[in-house]
Amino acid sequence: MHNMTEQVVKETEDAFLHVYNRFHVVFDHGEGVRLYDIDGKEYLDFGAGIAVMGLGYGHEKYTKALTDQTRKLLHTSNLFYTMPAHNAALKLKKVSGMDRVFFTNSGTEAIEGALKLAKKHANLAGKKDYNIVAMNKSFHGRSTGALAVTGDEHYREPFYPLLPNIRFIDYNDTQALIANVDDNTACVIMETVQGEGGIYPATPEFIETARRLCDEHDAFLILDEIQCGVGRTGKMFAFQSYGIKPDIITCAKALGCGVPVGAFLCTQRAATMVPGDHGTTYGGNPFACAAVDAVLDIFEEENIVEKAAEVAKYLWATLDKIKDDFDIVKEHRGMGLMQGLEFVPDVKSGDVVAKALARGLILIGAGSNTVRFLPPLVITEADVDAMDAILRKVLTEIK
Ligand SMILES: *Cc1c(COP(=O)(O)O)cnc(C)c1O
Repeated sequence: MHNMTEQVVKETEDAFLHVYNRFHVVFDHGEGVRLYDIDGKEYLDFGAGIAVMGLGYGHEKYTKALTDQTRKLLHTSNLFYTMPAHNAALKLKKVSGMDRVFFTNSGTEAIEGALKLAKKHANLAGKKDYNIVAMNKSFHGRSTGALAVTGDEHYREPFYPLLPNIRFIDYNDTQALIANVDDNTACVIMETVQGEGGIYPATPEFIETARRLCDEHDAFLILDEIQCGVGRTGKMFAFQSYGIKPDIITCAKALGCGVPVGAFLCTQRAATMVPGDHGTTYGGNPFACAAVDAVLDIFEEENIVEKAAEVAKYLWATLDKIKDDFDIVKEHRGMGLMQGLEFVPDVKSGDVVAKALARGLILIGAGSNTVRFLPPLVITEADVDAMDAILRKVLTEIK
């Protein structure tokens, strides 16, 4: 029989720049928290397109807001105002407690904007050869600026030289923060919960120390909330669980729940840029902002964040039980619906992910030994049970 999937894989691979090793699955559509491939096989989605699809697939009100906006107005440029941009900006300010927002098309661009705010500040403050303190095992994106502060040598090295004077320290190493932040520091940049690096939440001590040192040395604290923000960790933004306020946050991923949109937000003090300093053609266009506007409305109307925090407890208990039942599971970490299982060194995350996929469960690896659970925020306890049943079969097969 003719195999459509393999043909699509081959033809796509012949056309694409080869920078991903993809699974041989061709998705066709989604419904709720499930995806269907072109052969009609069903998958339970605990990856949400890497923490993007917060509302799952085909949410009625969200889909209507998007289709309505496509008929009205897709794009105008940033030379004008639109109602969706107005609405999205005001709502995002309100839920974040920040003062100013700039919409981007991606997370990486949000990081670029955040770094530019910090660089401009350092120049205005007369910091000579300023440094940036960044984290080992961090991930901030693939542009050359974002890459320069990404704590993975393997990603950076092929593209040297990158930004100079980046001081990488271990995440949650408070002493290293104290030793590295000084009067020439422009900013400290970190994820509030590290995602790609293996699901590590910041300790309160680490975040509080970063805040204090940035204040003492007139540096900006940039919290990357691209993966952990927008409802994932039990609050709208993860930093809101720590009782501190950053100078700048970046978000993207679930901000558009499927429409590519990001943002960086800052306090008035950190709003160092003026006309001419920054811009974008697509960023904040009415279509992208209609998505943000709808997402924030739906989050409020349907108590998405509170419900996600509730089901997160159930997921926590479920994965804890798996950890107890399987010796190959070494550690269970996370916050809210951003959880990870770390396996013993000879069990590779790629193997767990591939075996789960074959059984119709989507998981995502993080580092070589950790598997991430980043389901849509709208999952139910029954979905967690369904995941549990499949994962147990997979781990039994491996151990
Ligand atoms: C995904 C991610 C990025 C990059 O976002 P893109 O939209 O892929 O450019 C940056 N930081 C973190 C923490 C991320 O998870």
